[in-house]
Amino acid sequence: MKKVVIVGAGVVGLVLAKELCRLGHYVTVYDAKNDIKEGSAKASGILSKEGLATIGVNYKSAVVNTLDGAVLHAGKELLKIKAADTKAYILDRGKLVEECLSEARSAGADVVLGKSVQREDIRLMKNDSDTVLVGADGSVSNVASTCGFPQIKEYILTYKAEYNGARLDDPHSVDLFFSNKVSNRFFGWTAPYSKSLVEAGIGISSFARSSSSSAFKQFLKNETLHRMLDGANPVSGHASMIPVSTRKRTVKDNVLLVGDAAGQVKATTGGGIIFGASCARIAAGAIDDHIRNGKPLERYEKAWRKAYGLDLTMHKMIHGYYASLGSRSLDMLFMFSKLFGAESFFSKYGDMDRPTIMIKRFFLRGISG
Ligand SMILES: Cc1cc2nc3c(=O)[nH]c(=O)nc-3n(C[C@H](O)[C@H](O)[C@H](O)COP(=O)(O)OP(=O)(O)OC[C@H]3O[C@@H](n4cnc5c(N)ncnc54)[C@H](O)[C@@H]3O)c2cc1C
Repeated sequence: MKKVVIVGAGVVGLVLAKELCRLGHYVTVYDAKNDIKEGSAKASGILSKEGLATIGVNYKSAVVNTLDGAVLHAGKELLKIKAADTKAYILDRGKLVEECLSEARSAGADVVLGKSVQREDIRLMKNDSDTVLVGADGSVSNVASTCGFPQIKEYILTYKAEYNGARLDDPHSVDLFFSNKVSNRFFGWTAPYSKSLVEAGIGISSFARSSSSSAFKQFLKNETLHRMLDGANPVSGHASMIPVSTRKRTVKDNVLLVGDAAGQVKATTGGGIIFGASCARIAAGAIDDHIRNGKPLERYEKAWRKAYGLDLTMHKMIHGYYASLGSRSLDMLFMFSKLFGAESFFSKYGDMDRPTIMIKRFFLRGISG
């Protein structure tokens, strides 16, 4: 029987490993990190409650805070969204990936830490007809570049830091700050871990000729943020990057890409765990069908695009739209959105992950009152 090798023991690679083991396959996962939690503070952990319920991970021990609202800022304009109950969680990313590791190992996966897979290793596995090779190796995928997959066109360069002693109006609400001057083609954010511990971060497009750390310094001058962090102490700071376009192709011969390596990320917010893990579950089914019944691996490509392609495209379109607006147009957009009831619409029907579901909800529930 063919074996499966997964490069990358992030959440997505580990979810895939667990699913494949459950289907009876022999799976080896390699990760360059010695400690699975290494680098996990580089990313945030805001995940929708509904999305988390679909990925089959026991995430409960990783929950740090609950979220039911968001305040969106553009210049002096505000949009306040407040749902009737918890819509999302802030998770401790280190604990989440630890849980995924434990679930993958319990299912029978051989997870090897401290092994950086080099181009030569990738070429050997790619040419081995007894191996299915999966690149779950994150935004700058070595597997993708070595195997000649199409490139990801745009990345968001990020910088985030945690602050202790912050003054928060609402410890269950995130703040998003839109300004193409400061956070080119993305936004700045704050996410509360508790009443006084908050994460502040910013993203800028890889098209911008700037660094995320200098954008962050600029962001700290924002009046609202300044007030929130007045007297607070920075705990740590981290730079990273997020892909915000999917690769045109994610299967080639015996090689598949999943998660950030494939660009399965919401371009609006940079959230990649729900879509990445959901696509990993689809990949497990396609690999199983390939190994057992000789079906082509290309079925993975068709299946994930059918399930999530439209949502990811809508995220991309929304991102493209607000990224194209100058300060005045952003202010106007906020003003008119407020006037036309955007606050109550998103409070009632908002879905962080799937715009297609949000629209369906609106038409079904909205019409019936
Ligand atoms: C600032 C920031 C905020 C974010 N906020 C959110 C959020 O709130 N919600 C959300 O859903 N998503 C968020 N994301 C995105 C999220 O972190 C990613 O979508 C997610 O981590 C993708 O998981 P993955 O398993 O595909 O890749 P990764 O988590 O990047 O894992 C890839 C793994 O591959 C390993 N690897 C890479 N190359 C090699 C190699 N050659 N050999 C061996 N191992 C290798 C790495 O060590 C790593 O462990 C955020 C990202 C950033 C940067």
